[in-house]
Amino acid sequence: MNPATEDVVIIGAGLTGLLLARELQKKGRRPLLLEKSRGPGGRMSTKRVEGAVFDQGAQFFTARTPRFAAEIEAWCEAGIAAPWPDGAPYRYVGRPAMNAVGKHLSAGLEIRREAKVLAAKRTGVHWEISVENQPALHARELVLTAPVPQSLALLASSEVVLPADLAKELRGIDYHPCLALMLTLAGPSALPTGGLAPEDGGPVRWIADNTRKGVSPGASAAVTVHLAPAFSEENYGRSETEVLALVAPVITPWLGAAVTGVALHRWRYSEPKARHREPSVWLSEIGLGMAGDGIGGPRVEGAATSAFALADRMVS
Ligand SMILES: Cc1cc2nc3c(=O)[nH]c(=O)nc-3n(C[C@H](O)[C@H](O)[C@H](O)COP(=O)(O)OP(=O)(O)OC[C@H]3O[C@@H](n4cnc5c(N)ncnc54)[C@H](O)[C@@H]3O)c2cc1C
Repeated sequence: MNPATEDVVIIGAGLTGLLLARELQKKGRRPLLLEKSRGPGGRMSTKRVEGAVFDQGAQFFTARTPRFAAEIEAWCEAGIAAPWPDGAPYRYVGRPAMNAVGKHLSAGLEIRREAKVLAAKRTGVHWEISVENQPALHARELVLTAPVPQSLALLASSEVVLPADLAKELRGIDYHPCLALMLTLAGPSALPTGGLAPEDGGPVRWIADNTRKGVSPGASAAVTVHLAPAFSEENYGRSETEVLALVAPVITPWLGAAVTGVALHRWRYSEPKARHREPSVWLSEIGLGMAGDGIGGPRVEGAATSAFALADRMVS
């Protein structure tokens, strides 16, 4: 291999990219991760606002499959995960906050941060990867772990023609958006420790107090509110104060104290509406893989399942 050619480039250092890279590294491969953000973890992210701490994406993760359960056991031993505070079975949370998982998994991996990939194309026997404001990279194998529509956009200028049935299926994988409202309160909230996923919550899909969860320090509440897909779609462009005004009549009884601060995160790709029929995509003849929750199934555990499945195929 030409020394300037990477062994395998993985686009995205969310849970899928990180777990995949670690599995490949264990088998002697040399993965390089390219991540457009400043930190790893993707949708398992945490936001700090004036001393308050909010898990703004994934709230908890499940461990129902033996391989991921073993992984989570190791995370608990390392002190970066713990059982969900109200004791619900199979549920875990990142410690001290959700972004601890990404930080922990990054150790020992080669990650280029703030490296936004613009396009990837196949040139001869290699991949040529264009990165914003950086020289292009070459790799023998390429794995895409961003949400499926973003991954497909990177291949748009590629000379690669995916098998027609695969391309059609992948184009059908769209995601729900999610508006995430983060509120600081003047005192403790009236929310239960384990948060709420109200069955008839109207615009509210999930609401939890990060202080009760053990994520945010101090006595005053730091509340994450995830808004339902239809509401998020309809109100995606609104400001934080507009969104808060719209949902205030619904959430006020759960808050129990006055709102002192508000922030909004817009997740364009929150949860896949569909998934691929297999847990990973691997086209060995061109060295192209795809993994993530849109491939392996929704949520953190689906993303992990996809990463493990692809790692097995790439090293077999
Ligand atoms: C609001 C919300 C609530 C959720 N709640 C839960 C929950 O309670 N429980 C649960 O199990 N799951 C939950 N999830 C889903 C869970 O977070 C995801 O399924 C999981 O984190 C997906 O991991 P991933 O690595 O596949 O994707 P991501 O985490 O999206 O990682 C992809 C990475 O690729 C990077 N990237 C994208 N494009 C490029 C590019 N061009 N160049 C370089 N890097 C790029 C991104 O920055 C990102 O870091 C939630 C998600 C959201 C948004």
